Amino acid sequence: MKNFFFLLFAALLFTACPPIEEKEVIVIGGGLAGSATAWQLAKAGKKVLLIEKQDSIYTSGSSKGKARIARSSNRGDDIWSYLHNRSVQEVQSLIKFLNSADGETTYQMSDIYTTSPVTYVGRTKIYDKLYASLIRQKVDYKMATSPTEGAELFGVSLPDSVLIQREYNAHSGTINPERLIQYLHKAIRLKGGSIGYNWKVKDINKKEDLYLLEIEDTKRKSTFQLVTPKIASAAGPFTGQLLDNIAPFFKKLIQPQRVFLAFYKIKKEVFEQLTSAQRQQLFDGFPVINSSKGTRDGSFFAMIEELDNQGQPIFKIGGHFQRSSINNLEKIWQQKLDEKEKKWSRDNMSRYFQLLNLPIEEDAIELVAEYSCVYSLTATEVPYVTYIPLENQQPNPNFIVLGGMSGVGAKGAMSYGLIGANLLLQKSEESPMYQQVSKRLGFERLQEDIVNLQ
Ligand SMILES: Cc1cc2nc3c(=O)[nH]c(=O)nc-3n(C[C@H](O)[C@H](O)[C@H](O)COP(=O)(O)OP(=O)(O)OC[C@H]3O[C@@H](n4cnc5c(N)ncnc54)[C@H](O)[C@@H]3O)c2cc1C
Repeated sequence: MKNFFFLLFAALLFTACPPIEEKEVIVIGGGLAGSATAWQLAKAGKKVLLIEKQDSIYTSGSSKGKARIARSSNRGDDIWSYLHNRSVQEVQSLIKFLNSADGETTYQMSDIYTTSPVTYVGRTKIYDKLYASLIRQKVDYKMATSPTEGAELFGVSLPDSVLIQREYNAHSGTINPERLIQYLHKAIRLKGGSIGYNWKVKDINKKEDLYLLEIEDTKRKSTFQLVTPKIASAAGPFTGQLLDNIAPFFKKLIQPQRVFLAFYKIKKEVFEQLTSAQRQQLFDGFPVINSSKGTRDGSFFAMIEELDNQGQPIFKIGGHFQRSSINNLEKIWQQKLDEKEKKWSRDNMSRYFQLLNLPIEEDAIELVAEYSCVYSLTATEVPYVTYIPLENQQPNPNFIVLGGMSGVGAKGAMSYGLIGANLLLQKSEESPMYQQVSKRLGFERLQEDIVNLQ
């Protein structure tokens, strides 16, 4: 009888506490970096689980939106060029896979990249460095360095001491993060991976050779646990919070900062009066990075976010240096622009239309949307794709972090994902550029940065 009660109790206990499910590899964060990593792991045959705290429609993260500037040309530093070009190759491979799974050519590169000239406006003093980079990076470009050349080559009004350079490489222009995330998620599932939306990782703890994850299902209002031997963390600005007890130094190494975005449309009647040559000039003029004032405050980026249902462009403008601190990371995405920020956006938009010689006065541009977004900044603005250190300071082969993607995380997203997945798979590539880039993003640098914190 005693035995019977013991067995009954044990059976009840067993049913009440089912064993914690083990996953082969877990990626936390379904933005560009995490989705690209999960895809590479799935492609390599791993049963990957991607966990994302938002719903399947991405609404509030650094990857939000339909356009980011993608370009091969980067003054001075070739790693950005490599990261972009390698990403283009990886998108090609993704598109090929989706089409082969579909048996049709449903998916196109143009779904992800809008190829268009990428304009850079800067001070002529950067000419030598810029020219050398353009040659090294094999950029197809045109450049004007004086008001006369500007008028002849591009029909623009260049101020003195300002140059304008345009890149014409295929798949340079803008990249669509929203679409790329959708396609990556589809491909992950087709390869046998899975995605937990509305799952928020609350805590990560080491449990012998495994990691134990506490997860909240925010839709069902329940919590559960999973274990896994391997983790890739790609939580964007939430990296510091998420890894507080695993790698607390990221709280200091990755600083989230607010950046604001304003969206403009040209008044319909003014847009309709533009000649076809003027419309061409308008479309050719975006995306743009304009540093012609030579000051941080005067520097801005702008691009066409999308076309409205009448084919009219909606422009997005922001500034890489228009950054401010954040009180509440969860709520920052809804923060509206203040009057000063709106004025800054409008003034710069209008200044650029004048440079393009377009008859669009300041009162002809209408603000149609605005929101705040977040950069996850490292001290050098170079991201991390790295193992974290073990207690003995050696690299932990089972835990990688992709973070601090700053303002460069979109164009290189597929490369970050490739490098991250390769770290977990203990793979590498021999090409000198792959090696150089992995090193710049990687473990040795992280260790130096940790030492410098002390
Ligand atoms: C305004 C702006 C302009 C930019 N312009 C450019 C540009 O022109 N070119 C360019 O290349 N790059 C640009 N970038 C940078 C690029 O967009 C970002 O670097 C990139 O999108 C970051 O992706 P991520 O995956 O690292 O982060 P995120 O997109 O933030 O993804 C992190 C994900 O993790 C999820 N998450 C966080 N915590 C948890 C948790 N505990 N549990 C589960 N999920 C969690 C979040 O919900 C989020 O979806 C720009 C960025 C901004 C904000």
